[in-house]
Amino acid sequence: MTIKDDGHGGGERPETEVVHFGRKPFDQHGFVNTPVYRGSTVLYPTLEALHARTQPYTYGRRATPTTRALEDALTHLAGGTATVLTSSGLAAISTAILAFAQSGDHILMGDSIYQPARVLADKMLKRLGIETSYYDPGIGGDIAKHFRPNTRLVMVEAPGSQTFEMQDIPAIAAAAHARDIWVLADNTWATPLYCKPLALGADVSIEAATKYIVGHADAMLGAITGNARAAKFLDNAKETLGTCPGSEETYLALRGLRTLAVRLERHQRSGLAVAEWLAARPEVDRILHPALASDPGHALWKRDFSGASGLFTAVLKPTSEKALAAFLDGLKFFGMGYSWGGYESLVVPFDPTSYRTATRWQGPGPALRFHVGLEAVDDLIDDLAAGFDRMKGA
Ligand SMILES: *Cc1c(COP(=O)(O)O)cnc(C)c1O
Repeated sequence: MTIKDDGHGGGERPETEVVHFGRKPFDQHGFVNTPVYRGSTVLYPTLEALHARTQPYTYGRRATPTTRALEDALTHLAGGTATVLTSSGLAAISTAILAFAQSGDHILMGDSIYQPARVLADKMLKRLGIETSYYDPGIGGDIAKHFRPNTRLVMVEAPGSQTFEMQDIPAIAAAAHARDIWVLADNTWATPLYCKPLALGADVSIEAATKYIVGHADAMLGAITGNARAAKFLDNAKETLGTCPGSEETYLALRGLRTLAVRLERHQRSGLAVAEWLAARPEVDRILHPALASDPGHALWKRDFSGASGLFTAVLKPTSEKALAAFLDGLKFFGMGYSWGGYESLVVPFDPTSYRTATRWQGPGPALRFHVGLEAVDDLIDDLAAGFDRMKGA
């Protein structure tokens, strides 16, 4: 094989990178995939080796060839220095925050952040003496107005969970770095294929690999990739907190990664087709999807992202709970469930009014978050059209 067997030739296109990064077939007797290494104990051949601890693997929690393959692939894809894997996306968020924040610190989170991160902040971080305040995700460089002398880090997420507000990551990062404040970005929606937060100025990029990287709704996994400045803090948090992923889950993420580019291309195309079809329906008030030209975040998306995934929201006109149930309960292909990023289509109703604090959510009707899967898009549209017919009859 002339292509460097770990894929790090340099200058390859993203579709090639996801296929080749993190693979060394000739370290595995020529087998294409790095197998699942199950292991806790790692043996040292001599007393000298035991004292030196310089062999590539020293303890199962620290690394195995399987976890290192995924770490390497994600580090290179994100353009970072090192990656720490965790047992879930939420564990990636908590581990990343604890890598930097300490008692007496203040941290900032966008109001549209993944909601369980708010629970972490408002309960456990608060108990540890870390105070969190929330900002309007559209704030841009004005984030500086929220800085306090003890502000340690800013969390950004673009587009925001459920409501898909875009964030000006370069403007926020510039303001934060002028004050030595860390910037942590949750990049789950775009994946490292469609957005590279480290190149936009963030210090840390967080992925719920559970979603598109695993891609088949069959494993939980998180990843934290840091730049050179952040890497040692992340490694220290990993060592201290003892976070590590399961072997099988790591393998499933490596397997998912190999097809990420083709899956995302289809999620993007079908997602836009369904979003545009929904936008023209009389039952729909508006669509929240930054890749639509009508979206308020479109210019930022176009500037900073190279693609869109299949997750967006449709806000309906006011309708009864009974009519909404008639729409949702009879759908054939859109399952009702929360964890998206698999091959199948999903829909969930949500209401952010109960937990947003820095911004005010405007209905007028119920909001539905759609994940558009890999089914034929015409079948999906037929399914939704039948749903609107049931709604009318309810
Ligand atoms: C799902 C999700 C997470 C959490 O990932 P889990 O693996 O489910 O813990 C974090 N951030 C975002 C944006 C998510 O969508």
